[in-house]
Amino acid sequence: MKEFDEYDLVINNGRVMDPETEYDAVSNVGIKNGRIAAITKDKITGKETIDAKGLVVAPGFIDGHQHCLEPYAYRFMLRDGRTTIMDLELGAHGPKLNEWYKKHEGNSSINYGVAVAHEFARAEVLDGFTDWKYLYTPDAVNSRKKEEGWSKTRPTLEQGNEILSLLDEGLRQGGIGIGSTVGYMRQGVSAREIFELQKLSGLYGRQIGMHFRNTPGTDTEEIGGIQEMLANAAAIGAPAIACHFNNPGYNMVHELLVRMRERGYNVWGEIYPYNAGSTALNAVFLEPEVWVKALGNKYEETIQDVETGEFYTEQSRKEMLKKQPVRPVIVYKCPDSWIVDWIKLKGVAIGSDGMPIIPDDGLAWDTPYEDFPNTHPRFSGSFAKVLRLARENNIPLMQAVSMTSYNYAKPLGNMGLRAMQVRGRMQEGMVADITIFDPKTVTDNSTYAKGTLPSTGILHVLVNGTIVMKDQEPLKGVNPGQPIRFEPVESRFEPLTAEGWAQTFYAASMDFGGGVPGSQA
Ligand SMILES: [Zn+2]
Repeated sequence: MKEFDEYDLVINNGRVMDPETEYDAVSNVGIKNGRIAAITKDKITGKETIDAKGLVVAPGFIDGHQHCLEPYAYRFMLRDGRTTIMDLELGAHGPKLNEWYKKHEGNSSINYGVAVAHEFARAEVLDGFTDWKYLYTPDAVNSRKKEEGWSKTRPTLEQGNEILSLLDEGLRQGGIGIGSTVGYMRQGVSAREIFELQKLSGLYGRQIGMHFRNTPGTDTEEIGGIQEMLANAAAIGAPAIACHFNNPGYNMVHELLVRMRERGYNVWGEIYPYNAGSTALNAVFLEPEVWVKALGNKYEETIQDVETGEFYTEQSRKEMLKKQPVRPVIVYKCPDSWIVDWIKLKGVAIGSDGMPIIPDDGLAWDTPYEDFPNTHPRFSGSFAKVLRLARENNIPLMQAVSMTSYNYAKPLGNMGLRAMQVRGRMQEGMVADITIFDPKTVTDNSTYAKGTLPSTGILHVLVNGTIVMKDQEPLKGVNPGQPIRFEPVESRFEPLTAEGWAQTFYAASMDFGGGVPGSQA
């Protein structure tokens, strides 16, 4: 027996699961100074004790795809076991990175991080958009409203350099790679632009997270989007994430990722466990030429209003676009039965793709759950749903625990993100971000009709060694959340020039749009 009060906190008698070593045994966990100091079968004591008999003691869940990083959202995150949330798909505006992190300092119960936004750099350069309020994803509600340059304009070489320079500023300030929503900008973003983006994040050794081109798309087009990202990643040797590849075509995306990892590339993907997505009504892929003609969908069966629950018709969609172009909708795209298949995919991470909650006027920590505006259920239920589906379908619990934590921590740690080298694992010396749940009862409760019902069966959550949720009650004003980011560094960007290309590759000079004859270069 170790000395009395040796630990700040002990978690006794729980089933401790570590996805990296596959350690899986009833043990006692001692926490000291925010770290896991001991995992032992010896009896240990501390200033505080959690009895975890019958419960699983797992690494805190890591959500790398969450677009709502606001204090009022944290309660939902804790109820769903999440200890780190990051927006790595759309991200924050490059020059605003530091400011974004400052906003979260000292008022976050969980850890937070963000990538640098490709879309926002385009909105600033091509539409002159500078009306930053949130500094990250929720600003898209305004930047996507009227001007279409962000989505549809091919930049000149000069504009391309401006876009890259805004992104570089965010990387320099410590952003977790670049987030690109090129799926929403498929007409405006050339292959060259994506390649240059990946080269830039590659200069910093960081990932690109991509809602890849042509997603959703047909079986002749969609896969080209992931192949574009992966070919660039291979040519440059830079890490990449396939965002939410839970779409038709997922099986090939998964095979591509697995085969590339076997060859040593740091490329991976994430899914959310739902058969419907959620987006703004004016998304380019919901236009009739794509959604109806190319993909064979009917609005009446597939596009549902988040607020009213009604399905759109071609006519009602048109009318709503005039009034509220970015109105949130739920988009049905896959058979329900596929979800279980996704949870069996080894190496895949869970990213909720939780949407910004709009309107957010007056939302606070104390706002009753049922008073929140409706949103896609993935916001509040993604992680508990994975655990429930694993239980109901005999998927090994270790596989589910790996998906909810380690499968993000591992690749992000491998690209040098220190905060992720010490998370996502139940091992001595690791940061004590810990989620304690009842494997027999853990479940999501949110539905498409009511997306803000918190998960149940997750009882206690620790962030950086501090209890932030006890007996399923998130603790108000307890804010040990830390920034997940890189240290600020010098700029690594050099503007592109036509001469530079010619010198390096002996190729004719070309513009940022990919060498379209007659363009501005
Ligand atoms: Zn997306």
